[in-house]
Amino acid sequence: EHKSSSNFLRNIILEDLKSGKADHVVTRFPPEPNGYLHIGHAKSIILNFELADEFKGKTHLRFDDTNPAKEDTEYVESIKEDVQWLGYQWDELFFASNYFEEMYNRALLLIKKGKAYVCDLNAEEIRKTRGSLTEPGQPSPWRERSVAENLELFEEMRSGAFKDGEKVLRAKIDMASPNINLRDPVLYRIAHASHHNTGDKWCIYPMYDFAHPLEDAIEGVTHSICTLEFEDHRPLYDWIVRECEMENVPHQYEFARLNLTNTVMSKRKLKQLVEEKIVDGWNDPRMPTISGLRRRGYTPEAMRNFAREIGVAKADSVVDTKMLEHFIREDLKLKAPRTMAVLKPIKVVITNYPEDQAEMLEAENNPENPEMGVRMIPFSREIYIEQDDFAENPPPKYHRLYLGNEVRLKNAYFIKCNGIVKDESGKVIELHCTYDPETKSGTGFTGRKVKGTIHWVDARQAAPAEFRLYEPLILENETDDGTSFLEHTNPHSLEIAHGFVEPTMKTSKSQDKFQFFRHGYFNVDPLHSSADHLVFNRIVSLKSSFEL
Ligand code: ATP
Ligand code: MG
Ligand code: MG
Repeated sequence: EHKSSSNFLRNIILEDLKSGKADHVVTRFPPEPNGYLHIGHAKSIILNFELADEFKGKTHLRFDDTNPAKEDTEYVESIKEDVQWLGYQWDELFFASNYFEEMYNRALLLIKKGKAYVCDLNAEEIRKTRGSLTEPGQPSPWRERSVAENLELFEEMRSGAFKDGEKVLRAKIDMASPNINLRDPVLYRIAHASHHNTGDKWCIYPMYDFAHPLEDAIEGVTHSICTLEFEDHRPLYDWIVRECEMENVPHQYEFARLNLTNTVMSKRKLKQLVEEKIVDGWNDPRMPTISGLRRRGYTPEAMRNFAREIGVAKADSVVDTKMLEHFIREDLKLKAPRTMAVLKPIKVVITNYPEDQAEMLEAENNPENPEMGVRMIPFSREIYIEQDDFAENPPPKYHRLYLGNEVRLKNAYFIKCNGIVKDESGKVIELHCTYDPETKSGTGFTGRKVKGTIHWVDARQAAPAEFRLYEPLILENETDDGTSFLEHTNPHSLEIAHGFVEPTMKTSKSQDKFQFFRHGYFNVDPLHSSADHLVFNRIVSLKSSFEL
């Protein structure tokens, strides 16, 4: 079932199991609950769960909630929902904040071993004295504090004796290390802030580099997978596990994060789009969040197949968003009923069709999947077609409707245009056509051919509908010219059209998916659609130049 895209992580695990470095596999997905998950997180989720699954191991969902200011239970709930929607169930659920006491004790151990000290430098001074790639760091004047003094000060830090930023706890490693991460990194900082889980119990919080390896070790994680920017942190990760004398020894492995064209992929930036009201919330269908993609109409299957196809790389790259679109088309091709929707309607009166008559015509639900059967659609004297399917002055090679031309109505008859009705401003508001009963679809009529086939809905019975058509939210990829991504947002990323769908679709439900003939794949909006006000999100259009 697993598509074998190159995955060096799988090979590492295989090696570890063979060499005895590990005898089982435990992975974890460790989001910080400071925003909604995006498609990059989906890649990490899929990777962690599927790797463990492949080796009959376990995967934990762990909230890496060590930064009180930005975290919220709203995010915790949305993350759980998204992971499950993708199709995964964690074996264990953990909160890093539940380990604060243990982390504190491990920090005391480091102090007692002379491996950590309380430092009074402020953040700016610490940054400056850590040096650079070409310059070694300068030891802090507080580096040689005694164990007893450090223990006392650290306890005072915990008890709230100091203000934010007044003191930190630092590891005592090597201020001359070529790896800047090892130049006495900060382990704890003071933050007088309420935490979503621990409330006001703590006013010191562990830094990521200290907390993460401990979390992994406490939970018995064997393979801790993270993105490439942490590669240089790995020696520190190993130092923490070793010096804190953790019983379980987890190992960190890095892979390239997912980047997509025309897409911002950072919770901080996505949050800005929400806060500046450029989008209508985290689950706006234009957002690359899992909840936005779900609302747009993406399926878990499409996202999993996409993740498998792109595989796991060791170097950063940017994946074309068209690839993601390819996988939703593939997934819906045989599943979604193919129906007709008129997005921008113009009325057509079929003048030779009796006023008091109507009929039901048979239409296939999916010509590529005959198992989906047929449905009946009404036809009568008045129908709607797409404004674009008529031209008053047809350009060359235009095969749709114009005065004197005949086209095929999908699933119905040939019609020929004989008259145009205009309003006072000269705008065409109605077309007069005649139909030829002999050309009825399905009867095998071969008398003559027409070049154009257009879609339509019955004017009397069609259901009014709103269509939301999307374009990329971000026009350009990240530029180096110093401009913010907010300056590259697309003012036309949402277009709303009001038209009609076939009457059978009145009963469609939230998240039902359709292929509208010639328009693409659409999803019933879960928030705004109702029986008397249908709202469809266009997932993706039909055409793509993309080839795998
Ligand atoms: P962001 O910068 O968007 O906030 P993050 O890495 O800070 O992302 P976390 O909540 O810490 O967000 O991420 C949880 C997990 O998801 C981490 O293991 C992280 O490496 C992974 N992850 C985040 N973004 C991506 C991405 N673009 N591609 C692959 N994995 C990602
Ligand atoms: Mg993070
Ligand atoms: Mg982050």
